[in-house]
Amino acid sequence: MRAVDFFEPANRRILTLKPGKERLVANRHPWIFAGAIARESGPEEAAIADLVDPRGRRVASGFHSLHSQIRVRALTFGDEVLTEETLCERMVSSIARRMGSGLKSKVPRDVARLRDVRPALSTLDLTTYATNAMRVINAEGDELSGLTVDRYDDLAVVEIANAGLEQLRPVINDVLSRELALRGIWWKNDIPARHIERLPMDPEWTGEGEPSTEIVENGLRFRVDPPSGQKTGFFLDQRENRALTRTLAGGRRVLNLFSYSGAFGVYAAAGGAASVENVDISAGAIEVARQNHGLNGFDEASFVVADAFDYVRKTTSRFDLLICDPPAFAKSRGDIDRAARGYKDINLFAMKLLDPGARMLTFSCSGHMSLDLFQKIIFSAAQDAGRRVAFVRRLTAAPDHPVSLFCPEGEYLKGFLLEVR
Ligand code: SAH
Repeated sequence: MRAVDFFEPANRRILTLKPGKERLVANRHPWIFAGAIARESGPEEAAIADLVDPRGRRVASGFHSLHSQIRVRALTFGDEVLTEETLCERMVSSIARRMGSGLKSKVPRDVARLRDVRPALSTLDLTTYATNAMRVINAEGDELSGLTVDRYDDLAVVEIANAGLEQLRPVINDVLSRELALRGIWWKNDIPARHIERLPMDPEWTGEGEPSTEIVENGLRFRVDPPSGQKTGFFLDQRENRALTRTLAGGRRVLNLFSYSGAFGVYAAAGGAASVENVDISAGAIEVARQNHGLNGFDEASFVVADAFDYVRKTTSRFDLLICDPPAFAKSRGDIDRAARGYKDINLFAMKLLDPGARMLTFSCSGHMSLDLFQKIIFSAAQDAGRRVAFVRRLTAAPDHPVSLFCPEGEYLKGFLLEVR
């Protein structure tokens, strides 16, 4: 028994909708904003909140926040009761979906004991990716708004974006430890939402040894060090696009802009690239990129610590496969114009480095930038670069990053495979 049962009726916050706001929940969007709330009762520090209509009927339940504009991150709607089991089941089935096709017959019989079928973990779902690293819980996409969990072999890296959920850490810990054969959990605690939630921003390690590891993806090896790394340590969302890069790289001179730990570069080298150049502004990232190439026997690649915007203006080298995967330039809606100029600038100068017949994978991971706008930016870069450009494929995040149809805001990564003629 836990000291406090967060799911007990007496321990739940009750938020009453303003009259006329009842239809809000009809679309099952998990974010319930402060503006829709007329009055509230129950403990302020409650982990769980019930949203009720003006007549007192429950219409949704979820993780509670006192300080955020998102007062509830709803998990259940209507009559459905939110219990601790709901949370555990969501986590277990989210993990189970990565283990098979999602069809019952293909999921191990006892999904609650995935540990017993550990060898299967080397195969991500869809069996195409041989990997022991995957996003096992993708927040809204897995009906667990506020919770992100990446698994790196025997480590889990957890990001919690809500104060109610933070209190449920023991439950999260129990389920992850039971379902995945873990050495430890790195509680990353660094996303900006935590400031708003007034949650601590210090990371925490609960486990044995060091919170870093080596993963295998499609037969290639990578160091992952969550404490020093960006995001949760590795960009799992780009897995499919890295695999595509490998198939395109044969005999090509490859430039990997915004390389981080060099993952695209390693795949390009594995695909038989004539040369690989990795560019990142962070000396630490470039050091890890060098190690990752070394781990796979590709020591002859080159590594440049530079601002990519300067690099593309100054280099005299020419390439025939280019990856451009910058950080999110638009952190908010207000940033869009500035971000658009950044994307145009880097793409324009990148295209100028390409010999005719080159291919280019170009990305935006800004959630605020629509696919439409991104395409227009690439168009205008091509025009100013004086190049004829076609896209042969739209690119998106790997399938362990599902997006809820009820919360399309979860879609952020978009890209194009371009032919530059
Ligand atoms: N493509 C990588 C992920 C890139 S993340 C992968 O698949 O693993 C974005 C990277 O851009 C970070 O490593 C960050 O250090 C780097 N970065 C940010 N601003 C930069 C700039 N102006 N020039 C070069 N690199 C930059």
